[in-house]
Amino acid sequence: MDSIATEPTAKRADGQTQIAVENPATGEVIGHVPDMTAGEVAELARSGRAAQPGWEAMGFDGRGIILRRMQRWLIDNADRVIGTICAETGKAYEDAQIAELTYGAAAFGFWADKASQYLADERVRTSSVFVKGKRLVLRYRPLGLIGVIGPWNYPLTNSFGDCIPALAAGNSVLLKPSEVTPLTSILLAEGLAACGLPDDVFAVATGRGATGAAVIDEVDMIMFTGSTATGRKVGVRAAERLIPASLELGGKDPMIVLADANIERAANHAAYYAMFNCGQTCISIERCYVEAPIYDEFVTRVTEKVNAIRQGVPAGPGSIDVGSLTFPPQVETVERHVAEARDRGAKVLTGGHRGRSTGYWFEPTVLVDVDHDMACMQEETFGPTLPIMKVDDVEQAIRLANDSQYGLGAAVFSRDLARAEAVARRVNAGVVTVNDAIINYTALELPMGGAKPGSGVGYRHGPGGIRKYCRQQALLISRFHPHRDIHMHPYRARRTRLLGRLLGLLYRGRR
Ligand code: NAD
Repeated sequence: MDSIATEPTAKRADGQTQIAVENPATGEVIGHVPDMTAGEVAELARSGRAAQPGWEAMGFDGRGIILRRMQRWLIDNADRVIGTICAETGKAYEDAQIAELTYGAAAFGFWADKASQYLADERVRTSSVFVKGKRLVLRYRPLGLIGVIGPWNYPLTNSFGDCIPALAAGNSVLLKPSEVTPLTSILLAEGLAACGLPDDVFAVATGRGATGAAVIDEVDMIMFTGSTATGRKVGVRAAERLIPASLELGGKDPMIVLADANIERAANHAAYYAMFNCGQTCISIERCYVEAPIYDEFVTRVTEKVNAIRQGVPAGPGSIDVGSLTFPPQVETVERHVAEARDRGAKVLTGGHRGRSTGYWFEPTVLVDVDHDMACMQEETFGPTLPIMKVDDVEQAIRLANDSQYGLGAAVFSRDLARAEAVARRVNAGVVTVNDAIINYTALELPMGGAKPGSGVGYRHGPGGIRKYCRQQALLISRFHPHRDIHMHPYRARRTRLLGRLLGLLYRGRR
């Protein structure tokens, strides 16, 4: 691998440390961003807090106008947004269009429409005898200042995307994008300003891990997406401050292919969703378990499809299928997983090597004869590999699928929908798709989160995906108010006995 042309960190004339942003497909430096200090983060937080009450006061309608303008802005500026994403991630134009621009545009409209519904006051009915006749209300109030820390694999969808419901709820947001891909967030901040978002409601704190830690120290809630190891640190730091943390972490999604599956559909899904975004999706298909009777045919078809993938430097629509890896150390991780599998007897049917001399490349790779305890089956690879394992039956497939520290997503393929759904219900993952994969992410009504701690704590999307940015406030309104309520001092034996009889009537239950 060639070394980076410019130092990744440099000092500007005014003394501020800058981070160089590289195009990982070409190795070219395409920009610099400040490596912000804790002091600079605190300043952004102060401004965000000062701006928040005004933003909250605009109400759902006022905020919705700006969010819908931003939906339009994204479409009007599609080429610029996609160009920036491709340049800093090395991904294919279509990967940026389908999984980032489309997501962002849909999300602005979705949260503009749904915020008022998901956060509407709820009238609560109670079985408590003490508050009969009183009005009970559950209300959602914005927490104030939300910190969002994101990864490099989807700079729009997974970093910026989580800011949208936080803003819709009436919070100010401080976004710390990955130091590897900060340019998309800066462009989107420009878009929000152009759409009339009041000053300081949204700010981008560029920097590395230390900047992220400083964000946690300032905000009222932290929404983190990234690796399991960093997620643990973020959770600990948030716990020290007693602020809520929502953690969306790693995955090792299994695909189970039953003997009666539509093999062509299953093979297309395996090849596409393992290699999509160069395999750098938290809910990529990362391992495959195929029932013995169709194993050979499935492997042949998947290998043909992966072999036909065109990998290269993205140069606009249709130019390539798969781009480069985004984060340089990923090349080593992918290479280690493939090498270890090979050393222990696995076969590489296509791919298996680093590619090109500049940029960060690994060929789309299919592995067979793998064992369940190999790194490529246990650890998150986050690269363009698909290990396929033959299983005797569905029970073995379910057992192996569940034998993982992760539980983010999973897929089951079978023509027998009832059986497939029964299998899906036994897989321990936050989402399980039947005869499909990943596409659930576009259904913003459906919660998405990890089912095991290795994949995170909390959910995005659905009602919970915006309520987590709020505190619940309970209201109790006494409409009829005598001078004194019956249970109050002074206690009297007659009244106490009466209450005892009442309790017996209420709670002794039927025999
Ligand atoms: P990472 O954990 O290395 O970094 C994520 C972010 O955390 C970056 O912005 C980084 O600067 C910041 N950070 C690093 N140390 C920190 C600290 N001590 N305190 C606060 N912030 C800190 O993850 P990554 O390599 O950027 O992303 C890849 C990972 O993200 C993969 O594991 C992938 O599965 C996961 N991911 C999960 C989801 C999901 O929805 N579950 C979505 C996308 C990516």
